[in-house]
Amino acid sequence: MYSLRKRVLVTGGAGFLGSHLCERLLNEGHDVICLDNFFTGTRDNVLHLLDNPHFEILRHDVTQPLHTEVDEIYNLACPASPPHYQADPVQTTKTSVMGALNMLGLARRCKAKIMQASTSEVYGDPEIHPQPESYWGNVNPIGFRSCYDEGKRCAETLFFDYHRQHKLRIKVARIFNTYGPRMHPNDGRVVSNFIVQALRGEDITVYGDGLQTRSFCYVDDLIEAFVRLMDSPDDFTGPVNTGNPGEFTMLELAERIIGLTGSKSKLVHKPLPHDDPKQRQPDITLARQALGWEPKIRLEEGLKPTIAYFDNFLKTHS
Ligand code: NAD
Ligand code: UDP
Repeated sequence: MYSLRKRVLVTGGAGFLGSHLCERLLNEGHDVICLDNFFTGTRDNVLHLLDNPHFEILRHDVTQPLHTEVDEIYNLACPASPPHYQADPVQTTKTSVMGALNMLGLARRCKAKIMQASTSEVYGDPEIHPQPESYWGNVNPIGFRSCYDEGKRCAETLFFDYHRQHKLRIKVARIFNTYGPRMHPNDGRVVSNFIVQALRGEDITVYGDGLQTRSFCYVDDLIEAFVRLMDSPDDFTGPVNTGNPGEFTMLELAERIIGLTGSKSKLVHKPLPHDDPKQRQPDITLARQALGWEPKIRLEEGLKPTIAYFDNFLKTHS
């Protein structure tokens, strides 16, 4: 075990996905450095890991250079929910672009392998459905979502240029909507919003007509894809779609959450946010072939522990 122990840096490690990834890497016997500036993540997400002598937290902003020694880097630092990443759009672009440059520089110096948490947002409001990795996307470069979409697209560019120019070992995962315990209850994403509203008996806010679609992946499935991608042969860089192809309208999602919570909440319609993509579903052919991966957890199955998490959270934080 000792000889297999790697020193792994997880940026954004105190966030929703990052905290699950830190836990998984510790369980596999690695030394984990959780880097975070706590913009949307919290210490609470990793409190249960603090007693582990192989875990450390580093308060740091990825827009600043970092000097440390690591074998692998998972670059997750970036707010992920539209209200959070639009709150300070300049900082969002800086986080994606300067964060990528700093972490790529670190990886180059350490000869570390590095994975980028990219996003289905690189496809924008897609004209091809489902979206394969070969699709270049339909992104508004000057809209409200652009700080995130274009920041992530530029990060992908930097990753591939470091790979071509400096022979860096890179991996790029294009993550589709993922949900599960430890999502931020107020971050405005649809799964957390609907569950919290249903549990509180408040109106469920459906934006637009609710017929827009998303494909929801449970967090455990996604973390499995991350680890398989990092461990894949060096000549496999991605980009690779990681998500669950099960596609639902927002009305269908609301109905399921109302059913599972037994809530009496009513649906109310609110204006659709700017540039809200109409449909989204990953084509995961490549992930199946290259990683032998596909998601196993159906929406209802994954919603249950997520609802239980928020139920407990609301009871202990009210
Ligand atoms: P999250 O907001 O819970 O986590 C992001 C973490 O990054 C937080 O802990 C935050 O404090 C930290 N962070 C933000 N800016 C930082 C900075 N400048 N320096 C250091 N830390 C910083 O979001 P998440 O859902 O866990 O997303 C993690 C990553 O996955 C993000 O890069 C996101 O773009 C990507 N992603 C997530 C999804 C999803 O559905 N969850 C979908 C596509 C892509
Ligand atoms: N949405 C909604 N009600 C909410 C929050 C979001 O109807 O309270 C919709 C939103 O307009 C979008 C979808 O749910 O069409 C997914 O939104 P989210 O912010 O979770 O992710 P993204 O748009 O980045 O995929």
